[in-house]
Amino acid sequence: MKEINIALVAHDGRKKELVNWVKYNHKLLSNYNLYATGTTGRLIQELVIEEDGKVSLPFKDKVTRLLSGPLGGDQQIGAMIAEGKINMLIFFCDNLIMQGHQNDVSALTRLAALYNIAFATNRTTADMLLTSSLLGDPEYDIELPDCIAAYVNRSLK
Ligand code: PGA
Repeated sequence: MKEINIALVAHDGRKKELVNWVKYNHKLLSNYNLYATGTTGRLIQELVIEEDGKVSLPFKDKVTRLLSGPLGGDQQIGAMIAEGKINMLIFFCDNLIMQGHQNDVSALTRLAALYNIAFATNRTTADMLLTSSLLGDPEYDIELPDCIAAYVNRSLK
């Protein structure tokens, strides 16, 4: 099966929403490798699922936690995207307040768009991405846009 790496990030005002999304999609998400910024990752690790009379923490050891977003975690995820290591970014950013690390937020969203990865900033889009038949399709590859090669090979004369 094709390896799929999904990065998860939520600002404080939307962490609850992201954890609820993870809870709703926990069965699907358990098929993929998950990466998250520090605090988002901790909350996902602590997520408790109660099903059929059983209690579990399905993501306890299943999320690779990076640094907290404002402390470099957003940039770590951005670097992974640029290195082709992330297939999908779910980034629930707070659209009502400016972040102290707004530059990092802009940098991360810019790289997600530039490198043509699957990228959701709200729950509806995240649901649609996660349930797409293209996810995991061995015939389907993320194509780098031509502008990247054009930039790398640009003439400086
Ligand atoms: P956090 O980072 O998960 O460590 O809170 C999120 C962010 O980028 O603000």
